[in-house]
Amino acid sequence: MEKVIIVGGGQAAASLAHKMRSLGFDGALTMMCEEKTPPYQRPPLSKKYLLGEMALERLYLRPEHYYVEQNITLHLGERVNALDRQNNKIITEKGQYAYDRLVLATGSTPRLLPAHLGGTLENVFSVRDLKDADSLAPHMKEGKRLLIIGGGYIGLEAAAVAAARGMDVTLIEMSERILQRVAAPQTSDYFRSLHQSHGVTIKEQTGLTRLLGQNGQVVGAELSDGSTLEIDLAILGIGITPATNLAQDCGLAIENGIRVDALGRSSDPNIWAAGDCCSFPYKDGYLRLESVPNAIDQAEVIAQNIMGAEIAYIPKPWFWSDQYDVKLQIAGLNAGYDKIIERKNPTLLSQSFWYYAQDTLIAVDAMNDPRAYMVAKKLIESGLTPDPALVEDASSNLKDLLKQ
Ligand code: NAP
Repeated sequence: MEKVIIVGGGQAAASLAHKMRSLGFDGALTMMCEEKTPPYQRPPLSKKYLLGEMALERLYLRPEHYYVEQNITLHLGERVNALDRQNNKIITEKGQYAYDRLVLATGSTPRLLPAHLGGTLENVFSVRDLKDADSLAPHMKEGKRLLIIGGGYIGLEAAAVAAARGMDVTLIEMSERILQRVAAPQTSDYFRSLHQSHGVTIKEQTGLTRLLGQNGQVVGAELSDGSTLEIDLAILGIGITPATNLAQDCGLAIENGIRVDALGRSSDPNIWAAGDCCSFPYKDGYLRLESVPNAIDQAEVIAQNIMGAEIAYIPKPWFWSDQYDVKLQIAGLNAGYDKIIERKNPTLLSQSFWYYAQDTLIAVDAMNDPRAYMVAKKLIESGLTPDPALVEDASSNLKDLLKQ
């Protein structure tokens, strides 16, 4: 194996390239990045970077000289248009490149609002890449009226930044409650109160009917509850879709993302996939995780497998979100829970919710409680379940739960 090409310039792509070199791969290693910027971290885009508290250089995953030193060829601003699987080549707008192994780390694309609903009006922003954050940042100014569409992580993190800026913020969420996709009602309640205490108006079970424009610029919004808002800008946080076009066009198997086997290989044995764009075997089906830790862990396992190991990828899911002075840390996946145990600490904002399914601990949401998160993560990864009565008792020492 001499030539490995990675399509993508996000976290999964960068982690895979780094791991390949650290494992001693000395063949040609090329990254095809559609964006013009070297690989950078996305999480700060909706937090510190948007708030103006983080410089661009600190966003980069590695300094530019790293790629030169490691002999990783970065093709910045070069979009891959097609894969020629018969000839093991990729086709870009600038040329064709041969590979022995190809890794698709194409990530995901934000859902957009169609033009007839006002999606193409000026001052309607997504927050997915650096360009988005740079266009939005100058508009995050005191007194501006902001509508946030979607109550997932993007919407809530953007709301926290906007409230800190002194903006007038309304957030609408179409489903029953904010964070419905990822958390239990208790966690939604916690974050709803948190945002309301910072002056954010949250409207759940409320969708957007359409954005209203004047001279091409957004000036208002009609909501599904019949109300109309006057606004200066809107932010879309309405989810993402896995970037599967290249894979789909060349006939690779797709199942809510590029379908890979336990090793990370797609239905073509020379093509692998990692990160947001792929779904991997999990329990009785396939799972796709939209998270940075998953992108890193999966990419590192795949790098080893490309080098000849045969390691099945077993996810150890965790997530985090920063909103105001609260850090939310989630360990595990809560799908299928039937009981929630609440641990309230004496400090007002420090709480955790422990999810059980058939008397087994499966996940934890910890707010400003890193110890609960750490202990729960260890328990879940070791397949251990603490006695709910001990979890609930705020006077119990959480670390004792590990002594089972
Ligand atoms: P998300 O978590 O899927 O949340 C989008 C929310 O918007 C959903 O609750 C969705 O409701 C709602 N929605 C969709 N269309 C709507 C409409 N027309 N009007 C009102 N609400 C609507 O996605 P996201 O917040 O956009 O984030 C994008 C990705 O970035 C996700 O993978 C997320 O995990 C990731 N991210 C993660 C972090 C973090 O981990 N801290 C931070 C930022 C972003 P339905 O579910 O009913 O469609």
